[in-house]
Amino acid sequence: MAEHNASLKRQERESTDAEPSPKRSRPNESNTAGQEKPRHPTLWFDDGGIVLSAEHTLFRVHRSFLSLNSPIFRDLFSIPPRESASEDPEETWEGLPLIRMHDDDEDIVNLLTALYDRTYSLASQPIDVVAGLLRMSTKYEIGYLRNQAIKYLTPIYDLPNRNIVERYTATTRGVQFAPLIINTARETKTDFLIPGAFFFLAIQDINHIFERITKEERPRYRISMDDLQTCITGREALIKCNRETIYSFGSKKCGENTRCNSRMNTFVQSEVWKEHVADPNTTAVLDSAFWNDITVCGMCVETHRMSSRMGVRKVIDQVPGYFKFSDWDTLRKSTKGQPSQIK
Ligand SMILES: [Zn+2]
Repeated sequence: MAEHNASLKRQERESTDAEPSPKRSRPNESNTAGQEKPRHPTLWFDDGGIVLSAEHTLFRVHRSFLSLNSPIFRDLFSIPPRESASEDPEETWEGLPLIRMHDDDEDIVNLLTALYDRTYSLASQPIDVVAGLLRMSTKYEIGYLRNQAIKYLTPIYDLPNRNIVERYTATTRGVQFAPLIINTARETKTDFLIPGAFFFLAIQDINHIFERITKEERPRYRISMDDLQTCITGREALIKCNRETIYSFGSKKCGENTRCNSRMNTFVQSEVWKEHVADPNTTAVLDSAFWNDITVCGMCVETHRMSSRMGVRKVIDQVPGYFKFSDWDTLRKSTKGQPSQIK
């Protein structure tokens, strides 16, 4: 009976025309012939000569256009079909060659949109979309798109490049997708993005860091146990370096005013100071509110502020070392397609 029903359903499917119905997009029905998947609503060009079959969706595109943009597509399309291919529903779609893609639907949609839409602006996309485009443009060897993605991500994760001293409040932008960037950078040989992503992860609350392993289900957004270890070790090193470099002014004496010295002594005993010194976020000292808590003379405040700002730069310069990397310059040079120097 079940078999009879299945055969009826198959007939029903075959008898309807090519118009897709939403129920066909169910994942458990998707691993069979291309005809069972819905067409993408916009990335389906009637004059396209080839059909790409992603996990749940079909895309009808132009062979020559994609070949022009990507040598990988060109090679993929130049493989001659098997003799029996025209009868095999796995390899054709209504007579057109059907190419099975091993990418997520979302990745294909983003890539094709970036290629086809001339008004498409990478700059207005969220970080996860750009990370996906970096991965796809690397895989399909689309140089200009890869360079655009690198240019977008550079001022966020190449910490000395983003001028963090002036723009430290923007860190939240880099935090959310830090694990995704670590994984994507490894996959795309853009290692210079990794220390910055580790930094953003490491300055988080420790529970938040652990949640990136235990609560995240999407593999690309999760960090490995090795990376967790690197992150925690780097976090410890960061706190130590912050203490020695940025907060070293706590032990400095005022040459003008002896009251400053006793006030500073009291301040470095306070809970506020202890909390700051234990904070891995290197840039926290740049918050002007921090300085309101110290009641030393104006000249002391200015001197300490200046020295701590220089300390922040020093710590940022050393960030790769905390996370098992060499220096920033070596990392940048190892990237194919130089990261742009945005100041
Ligand atoms: Zn003073």
